[in-house]
Amino acid sequence: MQPLLERIEDAARPTAEDGLPAQYIPALARVDPKKFALAVVTKEGAEYAAGDADEPFSIQSISKLFTLALAMEWIGDSLWDRVKREPSGMRFNSIIQLETENGVPRNPFINAGAIVVTDALLHTRPSIAVGFRNQMRLLSGDESVRYDSEVHRSEIATGDMNRAAAFLLKAKGNLTEDPIEATNVYFQFCSLAMSARQLARAALFLVAPQPGDAALAKGTHALRLRAIMRTCGLYDQSGEFAFRVGLPAKSGVGGGIVAVNPAKGYAACAWSPPLDKFGNSIAATEALALLAAETGV
Ligand code: GLU
Repeated sequence: MQPLLERIEDAARPTAEDGLPAQYIPALARVDPKKFALAVVTKEGAEYAAGDADEPFSIQSISKLFTLALAMEWIGDSLWDRVKREPSGMRFNSIIQLETENGVPRNPFINAGAIVVTDALLHTRPSIAVGFRNQMRLLSGDESVRYDSEVHRSEIATGDMNRAAAFLLKAKGNLTEDPIEATNVYFQFCSLAMSARQLARAALFLVAPQPGDAALAKGTHALRLRAIMRTCGLYDQSGEFAFRVGLPAKSGVGGGIVAVNPAKGYAACAWSPPLDKFGNSIAATEALALLAAETGV
């Protein structure tokens, strides 16, 4: 596995030249576009890594995978009265369907859906920002995981589309908490900084039950979470990613993509900041495509 990851790094790194880091969040626009990481963690506990695999980056929408998992665990089926499970076919921050579909977001991985999930968590657990960070520490086995306050401030300063979605949700009766508070907590989840290795470890509950105290360790909802990853995990490129890579995955505009391969017993995370026009990392997609092809799906 280790020589394979190094070969993949050599092949995937150059593809990043075709894109740019997320420009709409100033703190992300400043990240070094040459960074690259690939980490693989197996259910037996072996870890392999190439590149900057221990450097924390902004997890952004990868947080949506873990907040959804927590909401399924802590809130249960009533969550599905408030958010659907269909691909949207629209950009991740689009609010068009919210207006025409009565304030019920298409899925929990677009921004409007993740704001509903945040609202539901915030309603039952007012200190969810600390709770979420602690769960990510438990899942990754690393107490050093922390929020990046610069990224958080940068998102608050530029997050008008997300506030628009939250106010629309409120107007349609699908938000309990204050829209500003809900979006600020949503931005905070997105601002968590983690390395590729930490994220691969954290995603292992989607492959096999894990030891430890994390709420998600048992992986009770893994099958259904993987279904939503397959259909909605890569924004409006989820079909293309399924065709090309074939693994359930979740991307974020920080340039990270988490993917799991239950058949082969591993979780992986690739990171490279430059994005394509859909908001997905070009080199991370390439790295995961090569990894899936070489290890089998
Ligand atoms: N915090 C980002 C936003 O709300 C997340 C986007 C993403 O990673 O898809 O725009």
